[in-house]
Amino acid sequence: MSTAAIQQIDISSFLEACEKGFPDYTTTTGHKLFPQVIDGEWSKACVWCGAVPAQKCNEEVFICSHGHWKAFVTLPEYVAWGEQAQAADIAYSHALVEWREAGKALGAQHKALTQKEEQLQFAIGDWMVTGEDRGYIASHSHCNYPEAERVTGYSLSSLRNFAYVARHVPASIRMDAVSFGIHQLVAPLKNIEDQKRILQKAAAENLSVAKVRELVKNLPSTIVPKTKDEHDLANGRSPFGSLNAEIKKVGPDIVIASQRLNTWWERVGPMTHKEEEALQLMLPRLSNRAKTAEHIREAATRLMALADRVESYQLAPPEPKPVQEEVAA
Ligand SMILES: [Zn+2]
Repeated sequence: MSTAAIQQIDISSFLEACEKGFPDYTTTTGHKLFPQVIDGEWSKACVWCGAVPAQKCNEEVFICSHGHWKAFVTLPEYVAWGEQAQAADIAYSHALVEWREAGKALGAQHKALTQKEEQLQFAIGDWMVTGEDRGYIASHSHCNYPEAERVTGYSLSSLRNFAYVARHVPASIRMDAVSFGIHQLVAPLKNIEDQKRILQKAAAENLSVAKVRELVKNLPSTIVPKTKDEHDLANGRSPFGSLNAEIKKVGPDIVIASQRLNTWWERVGPMTHKEEEALQLMLPRLSNRAKTAEHIREAATRLMALADRVESYQLAPPEPKPVQEEVAA
């Protein structure tokens, strides 16, 4: 049967009858089919001649031992159904292939954009570093960072981050094949050889960000500035002039650490009038007072342990001089 002729056959009534088990169906060739389901029960009668017993075939119809299955499967509507199903299958797999290809193309575009964006991030970072070093810009608001934000279209925090990474990962060891995010992870490392080794490993083994985070975890590193003030401190330039001498004396890491602890002391400090008011309002509304009290006591226990640690801390005694050195001297 030609495809054109098959397309003319309306198989919807056949499919509908098929689903109900042919309770009342006459084929396009004028043959009355025997019901496969009667009152919800399988009739086990041959779909073609009505003889029993019969076996169920792969199209969910019963068939006797006289090969009537063949008569059934050569029905024009059955053939048309098969061809339509096949055509639908082909259309489906074509659509699937097309959809996959579209995804691949988008992925390639994303990769290209990301690569371009990453090159741009370093370019902007280097530009920021130049501006910082020449004193054109600093992180605090009145010193041109907003202008950098305006001209580049990146947020302040992104710009600070680009500058930080650009400053701490020299151009000579950056790897094109490695994402900016990974460069960001190696930026705090104290040892440039560690940075270089990890970037090369990341490029060679196509390491994930998570894997690199694992690698750098226990390597000696500097404190990563989180706020604009810390960023300025890390660059050795404080918006508060009084800290500059301190930075020269003990280094930015110690100054940042001390500022962070100060902020924290403030947070764990005694309750003020405002907080007392808030507590008055919240006390009748706390859904689980016992649990809240437990949290507070737990925090207090940790603070007590910390107090002990601070109080009992002792500087390590100076290392005894190696004997060899004395001999050599
Ligand atoms: Zn039969």
